[in-house]
This record gives sequence, structure tokens and C-alpha cells, in this order.
Amino acid sequence: MEGIKKQTNALNNFINGEWVESRGKNTLDVPNPATGEIVATVPVSGRADVDQAVKAAQEAFVTWKNTPVPKRARILFKYHTLLSDHHVELAKLIVQENGKAFKEAYGEVQRGIECVEFASGAPTLMMGETLSGIAEEIDSEMFRYPLGVIGGITPFNFPMMVPLWMFPLAIACGNTFVLKPSERTPMLANKLAELFTQAGAPRGVLNVVHGAHDVVNGLIDHEDIKAISFVGSQPVAKYVYERAAANGKRVQALAGAKNHHIVMPDADVEKAVEHIVASAYGSAGQRCMACSAVVVIGDGERFVNELKARADELLIGNGLDDEVLLTPIIRDSHRAKVLDYIVKGVEEGASLIRDGRKEMTEMKEGNFLGPTIFDHVTPDMTIAKDEIFAPVLSLLRAVDLDQGLEYIRKSRYGNGATIYTKDAKAIRQFREEADAGMLGVNVGVPATMAFFPFSGWKDSFYGDLHVNGKDGVNFFTRKKMITSRYDF
Ligand code: NAD
Repeated sequence: MEGIKKQTNALNNFINGEWVESRGKNTLDVPNPATGEIVATVPVSGRADVDQAVKAAQEAFVTWKNTPVPKRARILFKYHTLLSDHHVELAKLIVQENGKAFKEAYGEVQRGIECVEFASGAPTLMMGETLSGIAEEIDSEMFRYPLGVIGGITPFNFPMMVPLWMFPLAIACGNTFVLKPSERTPMLANKLAELFTQAGAPRGVLNVVHGAHDVVNGLIDHEDIKAISFVGSQPVAKYVYERAAANGKRVQALAGAKNHHIVMPDADVEKAVEHIVASAYGSAGQRCMACSAVVVIGDGERFVNELKARADELLIGNGLDDEVLLTPIIRDSHRAKVLDYIVKGVEEGASLIRDGRKEMTEMKEGNFLGPTIFDHVTPDMTIAKDEIFAPVLSLLRAVDLDQGLEYIRKSRYGNGATIYTKDAKAIRQFREEADAGMLGVNVGVPATMAFFPFSGWKDSFYGDLHVNGKDGVNFFTRKKMITSRYDF
């Protein structure tokens, strides 16, 4: 399998160790969001393609599940080396299809590699438990087994990290996998499959089927798929969770977010501004852990002035330029929705203290929008409630921490939240009462690392077991209990 052919920009599916043309006739263009240049075309596959991939994965499972765990892990060691060797190339590919800044893309590749590192510990992670003497002469043992074929469905905003949240651990645990990447960022997935094959993954262990909702429906309805790992927007996450669960599958569905950052009166204003700007405007606000709402406690005048001044200085442009922080929105159609939110915010009475539409008209090409800030937003306004997923920041005003925490409780989402303060009592109260699953204390993007669960709450997550960490191992394995009597 070393000699696998490189993909051209007319992408194919990857099934049973080979590039396979989709049986569907339709394709979609993949434009570079910064330039509009078409960098690839992606097939819109259908159920027949899903069936072919699931069949290959099902056949591969027969051998793969019995491949010794250390042998499986060794393929991941090799994969780790190959991903590290291709770090820059992978990051450039992300910039090309997603538009984010090269530094962010480089960091994303690193986060993905860490998932492979974690999954390489499969021999330890897969260990069971035993207890001798549960009764006279009777012992109990627990073994872990893979489930079978797993389906993974991923979003556009982390084309490398999110697929790597899923398939390395699933496969290390002995499962086989069918990945449906975002049709808006499909190139990375093929590169990941190519390198995985070079690392020694047998045919059919990882398959990639490109497309949109038909492929998703094909996976969540397929009787040979045992579990679905989904990451994407809230309505689709809920839909996938409900339909796949109704079909008897194990499901984890990670969804949208509205992450509140509380700025206490004692916060280091300069540092808080720096973290909030990077969190709200990095990747054009298209991160599930981006700061999208700031709760300013007390007067906050200095904070608001400095935030606005810093936003004015931000360099906007192509992610390949080293200095750029604010990169384009993924598609013009998404930017059109964001513009509607800006109009809505003004209509509902928020003060638009920085209007990013100015920079939008200045840029000659690409889906850019300048940093946008609304002040005096109230929790019942649409811009406070909805995930906008763009460089649009809402400032809410609160008299004290209790009121700030109340705003977080009112949000339907619960992915992340951060507090900026040095006050130990406030930090403890925030930790105990903030109604979100990933908290930051003076940290702008409190995303967890691969050995901890990515732990969203409320409408940011549907399911029981999160991705990564021990949750991930539990999600991708089932337990068998053996009770043995020896005085027989
Ligand atoms: P999306 O929901 O549009 O797409 C995600 C996947 O679902 C894609 O593969 C897409 O093809 C598929 N899909 C889209 N519409 C569908 C439909 N109607 N039926 C079936 N399948 C469908 O999400 P996106 O815009 O690609 O990604 C951004 C979203 O993902 C944001 O809401 C963001 O918060 C969320 N996200 C969440 C996390 C998290 O950890 N909670 C991480 C990353 C992204």
C-alpha cells in the first residue's frame, strides 16, 4: 500500500484502500475563501457509495478486530511520524480550503497529532478490570471489545483536528471507520487517508466518502454502522443524534456554541483584551470555542475602549500572510446570514460600536468581514442567543458576577466560558456555577487536550460520552464481563 497514488484536485472517495469515483454524477466546487479560486471539486456521493464503503469497512473489521492491540498502535506511531513530517504541508492545505491563518492551521495540525499520540496508548487505554474473590472461589474480569464499523461526520472549521478526534482512537480500539468530511473542506481528509495508508493501515480500515446530507443519512440509517460520531451545527447535531439513536446506534453529537467571557473589574485589561481579540476574531470567529459574548462587570469603560482600539488595528487578509489575524468567512452565503444578524442587532437596539462592514467593502476579493462589536446587548436579543459563527462580538453589561453567571445559565449553549480576574473567590464561584462544560480562568480558548474529554453541555452536545480522553475509549468500545468459578 506504500505506492498509493496522490489525489488530484478532482477529489475521489477513498474506499478499500483505493481512490474510487463516486457513483453520483454531481460535484461541488471548493473555493479558497480568501481568493475565490477553485482549489478542488468534491463529489456529491449517495447511498450506493456509502454502502460500498461500509461493506469494505465491515470486511476489514473481521481481521482488524483480531489484530493485536500493540500492532494496531504501531501503525499509529508511524502515522504520527508521517503527520509530523508533513506538518507544514497539512497546515497550508488547511489555509487553502478553510481560509484560517497559517499559524492557526499549524496549531490545528499539532492538536490533531496529539490525538494520534493519545490513541497510540491503545494497549493501556484498552485494558479491562479484574477483581478476584467477588464471592468464594469466584473472580470477575472485564474485557473491552470494539463495536464494528463507525461513521464519522465532520464540520468545515477544523478539517484536520476534528476527523483526528475520531478515527485514530476508534481504529486503535479495533473498529473500522467511514469518514464523511465537510464538503466545504474535503481536501485534508484525503491527505489524512493517504498518509494513514502509508503508515500501514490495511485496506478498508479507514474509508472516506465525500458529499452532503445524502451521505450523512446513508450512514445514520445503515444497519452495519454501530456508532456515529458527529461534529457540526446544533440543528444538524440534534437531527443526527435523534435519527441515529432511533436506529439503535451509539451517538455522540457535538454541536454549536455561544461562549461567554466574563471580565471582572479587577481583570488585567490589556491581557483580557489580547485574549478576547484572539478568541473572538481568530479563524474569523469560526471556532466552537470562540468568545462570542463578553460580560462586562461594572463600568468597564477602559476595557471597552481598549477592545475597540485593538479591533481597529487588526490586520485582515489572506491566512498565508504572517501578520494577518482576521481571515475570511468560509462562504459568501454564510457571510450573508451574518450581515442579517448585524441588521437584526441594530433593529433590536444594541449599539454597533464597531462596524466590520466597512472592511468588507474595502476588500477586493474573498468573503471578508471586519471585526464587529455590539455593546449593550441584552440576553434576550437574537444576537445574544444565536451562534453567529463570525467575527461579531456582543458585549453584555452586568452589575456583578451573580448577574454574569445568570446570563450564562440563560444561554441554551454550554460549550465554554471564561473569567478574567485575580480574585480567588470569584474564580471558585465561576467554577462552581458557570453552566458550561469547558471553563477558562484567564484563558481565551479553553479547549481541552486529547487526553481529556471535549466536554460541552446543554445544546452544545447530544449524547453521553464525549470525544477524546477516557470518554472516547468508552465510546469506541463495549465491555464484556466474565464471572468464573474455580472450585468446580
Ligand atoms: P454543519 O452542521 O453545516 O455541517 C456539519 C456536517 O453535517 C457536514 O459534514 C455537513 O455535510 C453535514 N450536514 C450539514 N447539513 C446537513 C443536513 N441538513 N443533514 C445532514 N447532514 C448535514 O456545520 P459546519 O458549518 O460545517 O460547522 C460549524 C458548526 O460546527 C458550528 O456550529 C460549530 O459550533 C460546530 N462545531 C462544534 C464543535 C464542538 O466541539 N461542539 C467543534 C467544531 C465545530
